[in-house]
Amino acid sequence: MSEEITLVFDEPPQRKKAPQHIADLDSEARKEWAKAAGYQGFRASQIANHYFSHVGAPAGEWSDIPADQREELSALFTPKLIELVRSISCDNGMTRKDLWRLHDGVLVESVLMRYTDRTTVCISSQAGCGMNCPFCATGQAGLTRNLTAGEITEQIVAAARSCELGEMTGGPTRLSNIVFMGMGEPLANYNAVLQTLRNVTAPNPDGLGISARSVTVSTVGLVNGIEKLTAEDIPVTLAVSLHTPDDELRNTLVPINSRWKVKEVLAAADAYERKTGRRYSIEYALIRDINDQAWRADLLGRLLKNRNSHVNLIPLNPTPGSKWTASRREDEAEFVRVLESYGVPVTVRDTRGREIDGACGQLAAAESAQQ
Ligand code: SF4
Repeated sequence: MSEEITLVFDEPPQRKKAPQHIADLDSEARKEWAKAAGYQGFRASQIANHYFSHVGAPAGEWSDIPADQREELSALFTPKLIELVRSISCDNGMTRKDLWRLHDGVLVESVLMRYTDRTTVCISSQAGCGMNCPFCATGQAGLTRNLTAGEITEQIVAAARSCELGEMTGGPTRLSNIVFMGMGEPLANYNAVLQTLRNVTAPNPDGLGISARSVTVSTVGLVNGIEKLTAEDIPVTLAVSLHTPDDELRNTLVPINSRWKVKEVLAAADAYERKTGRRYSIEYALIRDINDQAWRADLLGRLLKNRNSHVNLIPLNPTPGSKWTASRREDEAEFVRVLESYGVPVTVRDTRGREIDGACGQLAAAESAQQ
């Protein structure tokens, strides 16, 4: 297991720890825990099966476990780590944002999005974020704390259950994709994110059995984290939030750039691509008159033209009261045209959830302001 990344922006002291959950542990450790708690080791596999294969089936449905043990086993091994505060839907019920309260009152968000060919959940890996990107609602509040693997996995299992129960418009479906693009910088909470990736990709009953190809981990460019992920055998899609091709502006837009420059970040992403065979994506929030000039598109095109990457342009979802806003349509179109002239694949991301404060952190920020 890898050690925690040393953050440029340290996590504040941990408050009361979240209760341990089977999703915090690998299958061997789950069995050891069960035995240490006085149960037979195979109970851990049975509980994992109910949690992952049956996506959080309530204890009352655990028919392979004696009825008088179900509730106590559930309370011990699958304690409720996230409590729904509220949900907001839009896009005719095809997008739903959930606000969750954790055991210590901390708030995080996840967003479930149904498309014609897939259903994706965007989850949070930290409460707040220490990366301090000035255009981002989450970054403004700083880092509250890292989430545990259990707390991250619970967001995914809750989404999978919603899909199975047919809570989204269109009836029952399966959760197919997971993106780590909610609150937080996933690679700054490396060990918990890694265990979550194992929970997601391990076959039933140890995990959800979702292909690593259907999982995207987004990072602002923590090179040591990308290098560690490269060494794991979990070929998820890597998304690098670049936001500008030049170090001068990136030092401001993505302050971690003062530690790892654009060239170092791209070199780490290239090494990841060579090891996994997975094309990586470059995330680029287009911000009016800040990073959306044609000359920056030209510089980005030259940087990427011989790389196995794909550019995702994201029309900025402005933070309330912020001076940063989305690019003009004509500037966005010119940016796309210039990149395509270099043969760089580019898409403009669909801005699902915009009408419900869809950008990371905006719903939690609004809720906290009301408390
Ligand atoms: S953009 Fe991402 S990395 Fe930057 S502050 Fe926001 S959540 Fe953190």
